[in-house]
Amino acid sequence: MSASEVGHPIVDEPQPLPVRWGDAELARLTTMVKQRSLFYWKGPQTEALYEAFRRRYPLTYCFATSSGSAALHVAVAALRLQPGDEVIVPAITDMGSVIGILYQQAVPVFADLEPGTYNLDPADVRRRITPKTRAIMPVHLAGNPCDMQALMALAREHRLAVIEDCAQAWGARWQGEPVGLQGDLACYSFNEFKHVSCGDGGVVGTNRDALGRGLGKWGDKFYDREAGGRDPLELAPNYRISEPQAAVATAQLGKLEEIVTARVRAGSQLLAELDGTSGLRLPMIRRGDTHSFWFFLLRLEPGHFRVSRDEFAAALNAEGVSCTAGYIPRPVYQYPVFQNHNFFGGHWPIREFGLTQMDYRTVHCPEAEAILKDSIKLTINEAMGEAYVAKVARAVRVVAERAQRRAGVTG
Ligand SMILES: *Cc1c(COP(=O)(O)O)cnc(C)c1O
Repeated sequence: MSASEVGHPIVDEPQPLPVRWGDAELARLTTMVKQRSLFYWKGPQTEALYEAFRRRYPLTYCFATSSGSAALHVAVAALRLQPGDEVIVPAITDMGSVIGILYQQAVPVFADLEPGTYNLDPADVRRRITPKTRAIMPVHLAGNPCDMQALMALAREHRLAVIEDCAQAWGARWQGEPVGLQGDLACYSFNEFKHVSCGDGGVVGTNRDALGRGLGKWGDKFYDREAGGRDPLELAPNYRISEPQAAVATAQLGKLEEIVTARVRAGSQLLAELDGTSGLRLPMIRRGDTHSFWFFLLRLEPGHFRVSRDEFAAALNAEGVSCTAGYIPRPVYQYPVFQNHNFFGGHWPIREFGLTQMDYRTVHCPEAEAILKDSIKLTINEAMGEAYVAKVARAVRVVAERAQRRAGVTG
């Protein structure tokens, strides 16, 4: 069936891979090893990281963390939720979005997604608001900004806090502004796979004085480093970044614009070249927004092709296209840990104490479930040039064409 069986694959060269770390990182690390301390507090690398971060994301209060999940946990903790309080999250996201919510004895409430952006659907978020809802966590999936106008309006109407999960959205812009500046708290990740990386790391930031003043304590055992005291007033983990991570992350932020520009170019080219291909549903970007293409997720129109989604993805692989069938295997609420409510040694204390009636076995988000069944995730990276992307686009069009012709003619 595939052209590769009869000849050359359409994408006839290996996927270009970016060189991610080099002289800039080495220079910072070399300076760093001459320091007397690798501790983050007033550490020169961590201070440089805050400066580099704030140049791009003007957030008054920032705290650098050991991971993006840690940044999100700090953000949730800073809200001082009560056991059983609810936080609305999208059904498709990384576990990192919900881990902190559960550790704070709050309840992730999964909401459905828009069919085109794969981001929180404000109408479904509204339906899931209860008297216990305290926050909404929009996740800018794949680097495509959420509908922040609608979500912020909803949040104001119901007096909810908004934590933006920007882990996949470095360089993305909502109506021209960097993502993370619209909500109350913003979280970013430097894990291995993100646009910019120091292996593992993260940042949480806010412009709200009430949340910002104690922000760092929530990730540093609630020690008051400023006052030099211990006597913690609250329970908080150690999520501190270290100077080696901060050194690499700072150097990486220096490359952010270049990386994002290349990814936006590649993603936009793919979008333009696939536009109008029969049977494909391409990612929808709101006018005025910038999608920073951590990946490119497209959907197959139900019933349009005579091959399954998995066969379609396999045919693309055979043509040399780097892609996978779907994204995460199932919506987060269908993961075994949720289905079994197995959060604390087989127990979920807040449910056993009657502080929540949540039963994840009864949760359904039909659009999210459909997206994960009919989507294909194409790789985007900053090393892919115009000629390479053109080959990828052609391969997708040819596979799509072939998959529908099989119906009647060649079968
Ligand atoms: C990567 C990611 C995180 C954080 O992940 P870490 O590996 O802990 O840095 C959180 N949310 C989303 C949506 C992510 O993609």
